[in-house]
Amino acid sequence: MSSLEQRIIDSVVELLRVTETRLPNDVLDVLKKSVSIEESQSAKAQLEAILKNVEVADKGSIPMCQDTGLIGFYVKLGDDFPIRSKLIELLNQAVRKATEKVPLRPNAIDPWTHKNTGDNTGRYIPIIHIDLVPGDELEITVMPKGGGSSYVAKLYSVPPVEGIKGMKKAVLDAAFKAGPLPCPPVIFGVGVGGTEDLVMFLAKKALLRPLNQRNPDPKIAEIEDELKEKINSLGIGPMGLGGKTYALGVNIEWAHRHPATFLVGVAIGCWAMRRGILRISKNGEAEIISHGVKL
Ligand code: SF4
Repeated sequence: MSSLEQRIIDSVVELLRVTETRLPNDVLDVLKKSVSIEESQSAKAQLEAILKNVEVADKGSIPMCQDTGLIGFYVKLGDDFPIRSKLIELLNQAVRKATEKVPLRPNAIDPWTHKNTGDNTGRYIPIIHIDLVPGDELEITVMPKGGGSSYVAKLYSVPPVEGIKGMKKAVLDAAFKAGPLPCPPVIFGVGVGGTEDLVMFLAKKALLRPLNQRNPDPKIAEIEDELKEKINSLGIGPMGLGGKTYALGVNIEWAHRHPATFLVGVAIGCWAMRRGILRISKNGEAEIISHGVKL
């Protein structure tokens, strides 16, 4: 194994450790703000317990939730970065190593036999999406996705004649049905358009946008704000015990659609919205840019 390959494995293990133990600042900031917005004691208490949990995990470098998720990687592979198809095996090796080292809960189950592989790898797992981009760097974003929030993901086929109105109805329906199950407060990733596979990919990808970054399209940003307000007015509140904070944010990603379909995907990220970004140069310099950690 080359030194760059070893560097990638070790850096991804560290990326997984940092991501599992330190909540991104944008999510933390919104959680902190939510405490002052809440009036009910139970809602405040839930948020304060979450913040305490985050603090303990960070200080002790231990995962912030026992469900360390199914691991998903979103990779930008520079045209001139020297490692190509071998990257998939390196990411698998890193996940196996992180499962022992962080540690991560083994979460990859064979659906036919219910057997756990024990190392968080398996058929199509970890999930790996690779985009080829110009340049000589490798950028790896990781999003470990807990089962509670994936349990309530939804795909809707809205009559095209209903359009945006139907889309808003679908998102509210998803929120109402999710209720306390995904450990609220949560983040909504909404995919619009495309095909049945693409729209769910977009919904999940939408969760990668930090909460302090507005949608670049002002019309869509307005819809995101409107949906957030409407979802929060349902009164479900933190952990479903009532209150004003359910959606910490609503992020929309879209694609052009077929004339006969208007698909809407809803992915939900729980309060433990773990995401991290690692950048590696072809010389092996590595930094977890999402958390400001030089390796
Ligand atoms: S939904 Fe999130 S916070 Fe709740 S158990 Fe799953 S990973 Fe943990």
